[in-house]
Amino acid sequence: MTEQQASQRVSELHRLLTTYNHEYYVMDQPSVPDVEYDRLMRELILLEAEFPQLKQADSPSQRVGGEALKAFTQVTHQIPMLSLDNVFSPQEWQAFAKRIEERAKSANTIAFCAEPKLDGLAVSLRYENGYLVQAATRGDGAVGENITENIKTIKAIPLKLSGEIYPSVLEVRGEVFMPKASFEKLNEAAIKKGEKTFANPRNAAAGSLRQLDSKITAKRNLSFYAYGLGFVSEQVQGQVEQNWLATSHYQRLQQVKLLGLPVCPEVKLLDDADQVEGFYQHILQTREALDYEIDGTVFKVDDIRLQEKLGFVARAPRWATAYKFPAQEELTTLDDVEFQVGRTGAITPVARLSPVFVGGVTVSNATLHNQDEIERLGIKIKDTVVIRRAGDVIPQIVSVVLDKRPDNARTIEFPTRCPVCQSDVLRLEGEAVLRCTGGLYCGAQRKEAIKHFSSRKALDIDGLGDKLVEQLVDEKLIQTPADLFSLTELDISTMERMGQKSAQNLVQAIEKARHTTLAKFIYALGIREVGETTAANLAQHFLTFDAIKDADEDALQDVPDVGKIVAKNIVQFFAQAHNVEVVEALEGIMTWPDIIVKTEAQQPLKDLTYVITGTLSQMGRSDAKAYLQSLGAKVSGSISAKTDYLVAGEKAGSKLTKAQSLGVKVLTEEDLIALLTEHEVSL
Ligand code: NAD
Repeated sequence: MTEQQASQRVSELHRLLTTYNHEYYVMDQPSVPDVEYDRLMRELILLEAEFPQLKQADSPSQRVGGEALKAFTQVTHQIPMLSLDNVFSPQEWQAFAKRIEERAKSANTIAFCAEPKLDGLAVSLRYENGYLVQAATRGDGAVGENITENIKTIKAIPLKLSGEIYPSVLEVRGEVFMPKASFEKLNEAAIKKGEKTFANPRNAAAGSLRQLDSKITAKRNLSFYAYGLGFVSEQVQGQVEQNWLATSHYQRLQQVKLLGLPVCPEVKLLDDADQVEGFYQHILQTREALDYEIDGTVFKVDDIRLQEKLGFVARAPRWATAYKFPAQEELTTLDDVEFQVGRTGAITPVARLSPVFVGGVTVSNATLHNQDEIERLGIKIKDTVVIRRAGDVIPQIVSVVLDKRPDNARTIEFPTRCPVCQSDVLRLEGEAVLRCTGGLYCGAQRKEAIKHFSSRKALDIDGLGDKLVEQLVDEKLIQTPADLFSLTELDISTMERMGQKSAQNLVQAIEKARHTTLAKFIYALGIREVGETTAANLAQHFLTFDAIKDADEDALQDVPDVGKIVAKNIVQFFAQAHNVEVVEALEGIMTWPDIIVKTEAQQPLKDLTYVITGTLSQMGRSDAKAYLQSLGAKVSGSISAKTDYLVAGEKAGSKLTKAQSLGVKVLTEEDLIALLTEHEVSL
């Protein structure tokens, strides 16, 4: 590289790093992941080493953090708050340890204080005569923001030191962070309100702490761990001995703890540099289980006198380094979006990404969930995106880097037809998901449709388990529920673990299922949100299958339990030519008795409302419901003053208490059986 090229690149790096610093430290909204920032910073440091004449005093490589926000009053740190240098591998750690040994010029082994690298923001707490009088952010290292009122809302930080002995002036330094659970809650709430989310707990902590209104900070559930000291006066109150302050960093942390400030419980004193790798690996393994975010470990020379001898460089001490974890966030590009149809017809957009190594694996796909998520991210095909993979959690697209959007970026278009079966797709009001309406036919939903069709509450085909359905579909022996009826004993006996006898039994069970009731047939079709009760109500209301098929949304909504959404699902189901083909085939095969319209006399429980709760021993709750409905009763899910009877089985809970308080009559299971028998319901 010529000097001119290097100079151009250095200017470009200055520009990028300054922008990213501003976004990160001032706005608390980074647009690129830390690895990208670290890569650019390393590139700058290498170029400045190769071309020292290009190194300017105000280069981002020489500076700490960002400027303090003018909205806060400013605090000049009595002792600057520095950053930390980084290492990323055992080799880099060893090189660091070697440099320290050389500089220490001592035969003694060097002990290190090992600490997790908390991912929050650094603050300095000033206690005078035991009272918290000032709290400040790091800012640019020399001048920070006065955030005393906000810090006082953090329960982990004492307003007064414990005990009787402490320096007259004591500055405690540490990290304010947001526990993972609080971070997730905060972002969930922001998504619900359509507000901007925080990229990570670090930015959430910073954004919450740097609020002009401390009431907001108080709501954010921040916490704190101390990891060092700033200015400490020589005068110690209540002093009983000289030299109160320990000369070991680790011991100082224990002193701080005794004064009532929390110190991270993972902190450990290591005898020598060889134990560092073990600590690093241990914390890396523990990381997921910790309830706060960390992005590495920190190792500090324990002997304070040696720390003083080693001193500082521009932006970091020579006696400490961060040994960082592999990145959990990376940049990549969204090459395309494909639409996958799930087992129940849900259509999910899946991002095809340029393969990228993140969180220990190569990631090339990520779900985009649904249209709402795509709109929230504002993502387009060809965009550069931040991808995150933490622990075993599936990879996630966190954000889009708008600055890198190319001119040929394309809007993501949702399909209007199912990519598998070409049926119409439907997005119902209030639902985020798009669905294929070709449930009975669609290749993606085939197995589920057949399993449902033959399930106990539908046609109850004995011997046709889920595994067998899967095999039969995989072997292409059946494609729709109608095909079940042409299966032969020979077909079945060729399947795994199927003998001749069981094949014979299954063919008989299928044959038996030909004869059913209209309600069960409708339920068996697996129309979305049409459960047993709705199916029974549809049958009772319309009496014939043709009437149901031909009903429009208005007519359907006259049926008890059928609202706008269910009506739409039914109409859409029968509007799909593919479904109709299967339904017609089934109509040719199956039979059910006509429904006899019940007279008033046959509906003795008409106008009565029942609620069922607890566990029944002789029948399922849904059976009990169906029996009561067959006598004309209305069965509701919740108790109110309008409820006439509560059927309470074993372990009845709050509903029973409520019924008693409202004076609703309570029936036991025995009472119910007596009632049903009295009205000649065959159980
Ligand atoms: P740093 O976060 O790498 O290290 C220093 C900080 O670590 C301290 O100020 C302190 O807050 C924290 N820390 C946590 N645990 C500690 C412990 N046990 N002992 C001492 N300190 C501890 O340095 P930095 O200067 O705050 O930030 C630089 C880093 O921030 C970069 O490496 C980059 O990853 C990230 N960054 C990202 C962007 C972006 O756009 N994504 C921009 C700027 C900075």
